[in-house]
Amino acid sequence: MPASALSTALDRYEAVIGIEVHCQLKTASKMFCACSTAYDGHRPNSHVCPVCLGLPGALPVINRRAVELVLATGAAIGASTPEATRWDRKNYFYPDLPKGYQISQYDLPLASAGTLTFDTSDGPFTTGITRAHLEEDTAKLVHGEGPAGERLSLVDFNRSGAPLMEIVTDPDIRTAEQARRYAEELQLLLRTIGASDADMERGQLRVEANVSLRKRGTEAFGTRVEVKNMNSFRSVERAIEF
Ligand SMILES: [Zn+2]
Repeated sequence: MPASALSTALDRYEAVIGIEVHCQLKTASKMFCACSTAYDGHRPNSHVCPVCLGLPGALPVINRRAVELVLATGAAIGASTPEATRWDRKNYFYPDLPKGYQISQYDLPLASAGTLTFDTSDGPFTTGITRAHLEEDTAKLVHGEGPAGERLSLVDFNRSGAPLMEIVTDPDIRTAEQARRYAEELQLLLRTIGASDADMERGQLRVEANVSLRKRGTEAFGTRVEVKNMNSFRSVERAIEF
């Protein structure tokens, strides 16, 4: 969109933006089993066991380090920590999720009600952070072609069960630049405290934006649009601007 058209639109409308980030935690083993998370560059399905393959009867055991890294993130954003927490099952069927549910946290996240402050071209900006919780990553689908040119989809379970932290902001962000700066600042924070390498190109930091528009001066949120799979800070900014 040309800059003039964008600024004309922004005279009348205001964007309401919330950002969801998934980041892979820097642990030696997966969330609920002893399989190594150092599977990058290794053969597909070489880092798997009955737990992360979702086989019946397998018993998950919590990775203490993953819990500590989410608690550390909570402390770094000034969030509060619950007295007790629990796991919930998020049920859905997809070939990358053999159990038919993802182990996640629903109403008792390990961190809630934090903030993050960062610089923008208009000065410092603070967004509220609704929550940070722990969950397990899914397997990875690889779509390709077989020897006879037929289309096929393969599943690599090396990523299945890797610890994942989901961080959700309040709908406080108003511009594409603020969204990009938030993601950059969060990456810096996660790297500084050692929670994640947060490399976007390697899928260790995945950003989604929920964007709606409302007429300036009104309170009600407009219809929400979800933008997923943005793999660079620049694409976060450009997608939201669009
Ligand atoms: Zn495993």
